[in-house]
Amino acid sequence: MQFENSLAFAQKLDTQDELRKYRDEFHFPKINGEDVIYFTGNSLGLQPKIAKRYIDEVMEDWKELAVEGHFHADKPWWDYHERLAGPLSRVVGANPEEISVMNTLSVNLHLLMVSFYRPTKTRFKILCEEKAFPSDQYILQSQVRFHGFENNEAIVEVKKRTGEYFWRTEDVLKKIEEIGDELALVMIGGVNYYNGQVFDMETITKTAKSVGAYVGWDLAHAVGNVELKLHDWKVDFAAWCSYKYMNSGPGNASGVYVNEKYLGESDIPRFEGWWGTKKETRFLMKPEFEPMSNADAWQISNPSVLALAPYLASLELFEEVGMESLIKKREKIVSYLEFILQEINNDTNTSFEIITPKERGCQLSVFLHGHGRPLFDYLTQNGVIADWREPNVIRLAPAPFYCSYQDMFRFGQILKEGILTKRV
Ligand SMILES: *Cc1c(COP(=O)(O)O)cnc(C)c1O
Repeated sequence: MQFENSLAFAQKLDTQDELRKYRDEFHFPKINGEDVIYFTGNSLGLQPKIAKRYIDEVMEDWKELAVEGHFHADKPWWDYHERLAGPLSRVVGANPEEISVMNTLSVNLHLLMVSFYRPTKTRFKILCEEKAFPSDQYILQSQVRFHGFENNEAIVEVKKRTGEYFWRTEDVLKKIEEIGDELALVMIGGVNYYNGQVFDMETITKTAKSVGAYVGWDLAHAVGNVELKLHDWKVDFAAWCSYKYMNSGPGNASGVYVNEKYLGESDIPRFEGWWGTKKETRFLMKPEFEPMSNADAWQISNPSVLALAPYLASLELFEEVGMESLIKKREKIVSYLEFILQEINNDTNTSFEIITPKERGCQLSVFLHGHGRPLFDYLTQNGVIADWREPNVIRLAPAPFYCSYQDMFRFGQILKEGILTKRV
């Protein structure tokens, strides 16, 4: 499609947009009396208007039923989390039995590593991407130390090549082959938080499994953003937070995926609690742990129902829309944003550089050569909520659920103004 940098053209794209009506399903913060242009759905998704109703429902049940709410609320609390497994399985390409919702992301990665990082004297290495999200680095480092290894002997990072901003799949595969029998686990962010790159999860998983390693993906920036087929790719485990593209609310619960072949395996090492034991016999309070036959076996505590409520609300929107149409719009709106950035570059003689490779999801990371913080602050003051990363990269993620093509056009106009007035 031949794009144009004009209001009329952006309006036309909005009119043709099948997801247009969903914009009204979300609350937008306002700056200068106008809805913001929201580019940080990769950090905290906007609030779906129905979320409050789902929370109120739980509050009401608590008020009216107190403890009876566990079994007698309209949506009983004791198995409330089961309502999320179906919709989530369709977002990540898994069977519902392979999904559970519990805790938060970093905690779940630790818990899953109890099962899937079981180093021996000869097979103990973990492969990850260099400069992984800090929490992931701390997780790997502390796990390795916990098992009595040194970070520099056990953690191997795949580097980007000099002068390049992305990882090459061939370099990841080469490292896997190189480490071979010593490789215990590959754990990478499926979509990189900094440059927005989508890793070739299928190929990397296949290669890592062929050398006998476990494979886990941190899907914080991937879930609700890109196509995932965790089950078909034979991924061992994955976890994600729900407050980024999944719009479930700040710090909200994490989802996990465990491949079906580990479900019901009675001798798999795992940290266990009462919510992982069979629900039929849970309240007999027996000393023996009988694992649930699905991924709920990894649950430890009874989950916070107040947290699950807005997550369920958001998932109902995902069910209604489906990943396929979200991805279709995402590809188009990101391409339009890319086009707008090029137009502004040309119009103003700047040389902003998109460092996101063509394997991308919703996010474009832009190197602001010749500009810095003053331009970013100008954008914020004029209603653009974007994200700043040192040294001078801004991350722009036009979430397809609620961003419009007119937002992209308006952003271009504000950016242009900013460049002309904030030249350094
Ligand atoms: C956002 C993000 C996290 C956040 O972890 P929490 O445990 O939810 O605080 C972890 N890893 C990656 C890659 C992320 O992008």
